[in-house]
Amino acid sequence: MSTPTADRRHVSYLGDYCAHCNPAGDQADSCVRLLTLVEPDAVTWRGGKRVTCEYRCTGCGHQWARSDLWNAEQAGFDPKQRSAA
Ligand SMILES: [Zn+2]
Repeated sequence: MSTPTADRRHVSYLGDYCAHCNPAGDQADSCVRLLTLVEPDAVTWRGGKRVTCEYRCTGCGHQWARSDLWNAEQAGFDPKQRSAA
């Protein structure tokens, strides 16, 4: 009931798992997931529903990008207020 959503967002903000350190992803043990969860270096939004997040694993240096994982609202953008930056 009183789950601190702000804190949870802080921990896993737009996170993804490094496919090298954690091939099992969501299926891995929770401690493994915590260790391999990477926050994006860059978040790109070109309008629309989806954002592109670029990650770099601090453990192994693997770099990747996901554009199918998070949407604009989750990234803090408002799809209805699309402003040309
Ligand atoms: Zn890694």
